[in-house]
Amino acid sequence: MTINQYNFAGKKAIVRVDFNVPLDENGNITDDTRIRGALPTLKKIIADGGAAIIMSHMGKPKGKVNPKLSLGQIRAAVEAALGCPVAFADDCAKAADAAAALKMGEALLLENLRYYPEEEGKPVGVEKGTPEYDEAKKEMKTRQAEFAKTLASYADCYVMDAFGTAHRKHASTAVIADYFDADNKMLGYLMEKEVEAVDNVLSNIKRPFIAIMGGSKVSSKIGIIENLLGKVDKLILCGGMTYTFAKAHGGNVGQSICELDKLDVALGVEELAKKNGVELVMAPDALCGDDFKNDCNTQVCPADNIPEGWEGLDAGPKAQKLFAEAIKGCKTILWNGPAGVFEMETFTGGSRAIGNAIAEATAEGAFSLIGGGDSVACVNKFGLADKVSYISTGGGALLEAIEGKVLPGVAAIKG
Ligand code: AMP
Repeated sequence: MTINQYNFAGKKAIVRVDFNVPLDENGNITDDTRIRGALPTLKKIIADGGAAIIMSHMGKPKGKVNPKLSLGQIRAAVEAALGCPVAFADDCAKAADAAAALKMGEALLLENLRYYPEEEGKPVGVEKGTPEYDEAKKEMKTRQAEFAKTLASYADCYVMDAFGTAHRKHASTAVIADYFDADNKMLGYLMEKEVEAVDNVLSNIKRPFIAIMGGSKVSSKIGIIENLLGKVDKLILCGGMTYTFAKAHGGNVGQSICELDKLDVALGVEELAKKNGVELVMAPDALCGDDFKNDCNTQVCPADNIPEGWEGLDAGPKAQKLFAEAIKGCKTILWNGPAGVFEMETFTGGSRAIGNAIAEATAEGAFSLIGGGDSVACVNKFGLADKVSYISTGGGALLEAIEGKVLPGVAAIKG
């Protein structure tokens, strides 16, 4: 079933969205991108004459109630965005009455799913690798299925629209789909759009294809880096991982972030790039600071010769030029992860250079896909959001989809 074909008139739809929005210390939403992302689906349900039961996680409460991560804080914002009454159920697993009382044309927001460990389905309080773990995991699977069944019991149909968590087989993102027949479960508009954007990159690659991978560590991105080396023509590796590569070649990296146990992984990446004929582009210089602060002293150093007491916090001027040149003329562009500690203005130069080069290439006809919270934050911060082709709401989910993995949230609907 597709959402466009479905008529929600007289139906209650339970919709998994990603309302994991950033909040300030007073509980105010600082970026409502994710709420806006879910509106087309929610509005269609209401406009058809149906009712929406909205469910999401927020943060990582690890299976316990945590008022700081209550979705109650965003109820009013959801109501304002959706333009219909939105009630709140303060216990997602005991919301049967609230769901039954829900009128057509209205919505009900459920409390944070992850207040229950059943949502993620990970055993609590048992060490991985111990004999008790397997038993606990089995028991948790049963509890997860029960939890999913309870959520499913509130509604007539299920819509999966949380791309950001679609790579997780959680109760609300995948298991719940077992309790609806094929005619009553579907992907939402956001999911459809995200899946299409990934398809666009994978099935219709216009070359040259460049990927820009940044962020803090090699270890968390090695899977996707190795995978991309089989697909791209050029790969820019930037951000904190620069220094693991520099160290692997015997360089001095001072206090820069560096994974000493990943030096062989770095050399392996270089070898694979060579074997596959991929042009690997890395920073020759770094903007270094003598403290992890915006107003610290700075100096530009070769990326492999950083003095003790200094750390590389951004790509240097030569690197910025090199990155921009590598991106120029490319026809497919994927960006995930900043080139420096962009949260501090002093260290935004590398990410800015990449963002600007992507915007220019896009203006010349490239398809550019930006994913992952930090690169999306960069694009927004630099005012480039409308100058790139597609901004994904997914980080991990986007990368897994680009790796060619079928996301559990998609598989649950499409089989
Ligand atoms: P990740 O979660 O791995 O995508 O990393 C994103 C984080 O990497 C951002 O918060 C950046 O501040 C950080 N980052 C980027 N470059 C560096 C660097 N050279 N040193 C330390 N952190 C960095």
